[in-house]
Amino acid sequence: MNRELRKTVIAGNWKMNLLASDVKAYADGLTALVSGFHNWCEVVVCTPFTSLSDAVRAFKDAKISAGAQNMSQHDAGAYTGEVSGAQLKDAGAEYVIIGHSERREMYGETDGTVNKKAAKALESSLSPIICVGESLSQREIGVTYDLVALQIKAALSGISPDDMRRVVIAYEPIWAIGTGKTATPEDAQDVCREIRNVIGSLYGEQTANSTPVLYGGSMNDNNAFDLLAMPDIDGGLIGGASLKPESFAAIIKAANQ
Ligand code: PEP
Repeated sequence: MNRELRKTVIAGNWKMNLLASDVKAYADGLTALVSGFHNWCEVVVCTPFTSLSDAVRAFKDAKISAGAQNMSQHDAGAYTGEVSGAQLKDAGAEYVIIGHSERREMYGETDGTVNKKAAKALESSLSPIICVGESLSQREIGVTYDLVALQIKAALSGISPDDMRRVVIAYEPIWAIGTGKTATPEDAQDVCREIRNVIGSLYGEQTANSTPVLYGGSMNDNNAFDLLAMPDIDGGLIGGASLKPESFAAIIKAANQ
């Protein structure tokens, strides 16, 4: 992390877990654990759509932001089952995860749709958390840097330097998500540094230095401190360990270094 240059973001991704009726107890638990302690970072909880309004209400006083995990690339109309950026903003969301590997793998999202969704999120005054990362076979054949650079360039195509102020990138090696396998701090740092280099080649050094680049992939209370100590890892996108206030709070506390 480098808090002088950019903000630290600790974002939870609940995926398809917990109910709207669980939000209040979770928020009370988390708030009690981190109250007065999390001024050093932006804390975000990305819930299922059905829990979003409850999360906005429950987290408001604790200055914790709510986010969604996906959104439509379209504005409005005949898109059954989809939710627009304007609707997320209307529900009180501040952030939205875009291009999570589970969406890419299971729901056919491509670099092209990720780009359209990121642009639409920004148009809706949301901060997109844009996910990139390689599979195990891609890592093994040595194309991680090329692939991640391509994903970043495609996702950011047409995004203005001004809008970059609201963009957050999450480097999430697919082989580390939900598997209990974590990238070493050094390996994660190398890819996050490369992501910053690519942003620098597109927007210049100042934007590269001010864009938060998070690590995601089995981050937990045991490994968070070492990962967050890396100079180009500006926070975490956390799945499993964000489901319990205790483990999520421990990661938030690990960001105070
Ligand atoms: C994620 O869903 O983005 C994630 C990183 O999950 P986990 O922390 O469970 O690996």
